[in-house]
Amino acid sequence: MSSLLDGKKLAVIGDPIEHSLSPLIQQAMLDELGIPCIYGRIHVPAGTVGTWLPGTPDLNLAGFNATMPHKTDLVPLMDTLSDDARMYRAVNTVVIRDGLFHGHNTDGAGFVRSLHDEGIDPKGKRITVYGAGGAARSVVLKLAAEDAGRITVCCRTPAKAEELVQASSNVRVVAIDSSEFERTLAETELFINCTPLGMQGVPSQFSSFDFLDILPPFSPVCDLIYRPLKTKLLEEAGKRGHQTMNGLGMLIHQAILALEQFASMPLDAALMMAAVQKKLVPVLEKSL
Ligand code: NAP
Repeated sequence: MSSLLDGKKLAVIGDPIEHSLSPLIQQAMLDELGIPCIYGRIHVPAGTVGTWLPGTPDLNLAGFNATMPHKTDLVPLMDTLSDDARMYRAVNTVVIRDGLFHGHNTDGAGFVRSLHDEGIDPKGKRITVYGAGGAARSVVLKLAAEDAGRITVCCRTPAKAEELVQASSNVRVVAIDSSEFERTLAETELFINCTPLGMQGVPSQFSSFDFLDILPPFSPVCDLIYRPLKTKLLEEAGKRGHQTMNGLGMLIHQAILALEQFASMPLDAALMMAAVQKKLVPVLEKSL
């Protein structure tokens, strides 16, 4: 099967970039599909993506993924933006075609797909999102667009979430040190951690997991973190009988959706998921 990517290159850009799992994930899918295309990593220093971009035609790139700190800087540099990239004001996938740059963002859709894989339907649910950074932004806005019920963003700096409240009438913000936080937890039907608390290499952790005792037992607990695969949050939630989900599904689904854009063709998500997991899970387990 020939594809648009035959003989071309793909890459992920970021600063730092050495630890990105995108090359492993994307190459696993390209190899599974038998597409002769090399996916690499390119160090693009913070603040320089605008000067790097015009040189991409010399690199034989069919496109690239972007990670920290370039996702926002890319937005005004694109010739076109997908609805999601425009909604999050962040780009994680750039398709280069006929010299034009097409910006996409697959993070929110990747998360929603990972929920469905676990049999979790966010429609109509009262959802509590812990944290209000870049990942929370794509998760909240996508869930709001997917007809979730009320979404409450619980964070330590409520001012940072005000923009999300303005963006959707079913999003509100609550400070984690307020009594309203406990009331929110008691009504929660889906809890999502969007902070780095408990991530490998991050010194901070939830100071207590007592808040899980307030969550209704039927509420799934999701963590966007995938390193480690089972965070302390998920361990504690599991002990209390909650369904749990880590960030691995989101990570892989956002990559599948990105490759669909690069190759301009639909992919068998289950086949791609299996091909990536075979390569990725041993790496994640070994890095513990
Ligand atoms: P970010 O933009 O830096 O946002 C981090 C958020 O966590 C901020 O709201 C921050 O609050 C909050 N926070 C940090 N420390 C806290 C603490 N001690 N107590 C309460 N809140 C705290 O990071 P991000 O890009 O959104 O990423 C968040 C997590 O999601 C990371 O672990 C990342 O690995 C994961 N992630 C996973 C995927 C995936 O594919 N699975 C994709 C993207 C991100 P302040 O604003 O008050 O500092």
